[in-house]
Amino acid sequence: MLTASEEPATTGGRVTLIGGGPGVEDLLTVRAKQALREADVVLYDRLGPYRTLPQLAPGAELIDVGKTPGHHPVSQAEIEKLMVAKAREGKHVVRLKGGDPFVFGRGGEEVNTCLAEGIPVTTVPGISSSIAVPAAAGIPVTYRGVAHAFTVISGHQPLTDTEFEALAKLGGTIVVLMGIGTLPQLTSGLRKAGLASSVPVAIVEKGYSPEQRTTVTTLGDAVTAAGRARCASPAVVVIGEVVRQHRDFSATLEHVLAQPLGAS
Ligand code: SAH
Repeated sequence: MLTASEEPATTGGRVTLIGGGPGVEDLLTVRAKQALREADVVLYDRLGPYRTLPQLAPGAELIDVGKTPGHHPVSQAEIEKLMVAKAREGKHVVRLKGGDPFVFGRGGEEVNTCLAEGIPVTTVPGISSSIAVPAAAGIPVTYRGVAHAFTVISGHQPLTDTEFEALAKLGGTIVVLMGIGTLPQLTSGLRKAGLASSVPVAIVEKGYSPEQRTTVTTLGDAVTAAGRARCASPAVVVIGEVVRQHRDFSATLEHVLAQPLGAS
């Protein structure tokens, strides 16, 4: 048996990092679907379209490395070790991530690990929830004359005062991922930095799932509203005037026509 240092750098194995989009199969790209079809192993978590993986990646070994907030069944180091070990066995390893792999997905770290280990790696971009989840609630992140910039931030850790001030000064739309846990710091930080309490806020939970829900509130009331509605992760928080555009796209024309005449 070869020891680690005697192992050949590559044995035909490779890694493809795929952005799976916001969780439904038909928002995967054509390229992502192609890579899944060719996969020997798929490492996935529950933000991507994991439910139909047996059909999307027939014959592949499917490994759930999912992380839910506060609960990390497989650590990042272990995920990377597994990815490298499977590729060293000569396998085509697909790492399927939610949204886009390079938006708060630690995709950059996984690419660097592969490169350091001499394993060929490619990436397939995905539809990021930072744009797609607001859109699912009818909220365009930019709107002519209303917001000509949007800033995507992680709420994983509270922001500094300097960051809040910069955000408040920049204007435009603020999109927060992983922001439910730090909503109190976020809203108070932005108000202290000068944003009005009346600035509209939308909390869009579980985008593109049957449980999708939008809570519309204001910067001043967001914490109370989120508590009352028991808002939970995964959710995208949108802050800014564009929130006034929100509408329920689940009420499609089909639904409207299915209503009996005269029903509201
Ligand atoms: N790389 C991903 C983001 C990973 S961070 C992307 O580009 O979308 C994980 C966070 O993304 C979640 O905590 C949540 O804020 C957001 N998110 C991802 N999918 C979501 C969905 N379907 N509905 C609501 N929020 C989602």
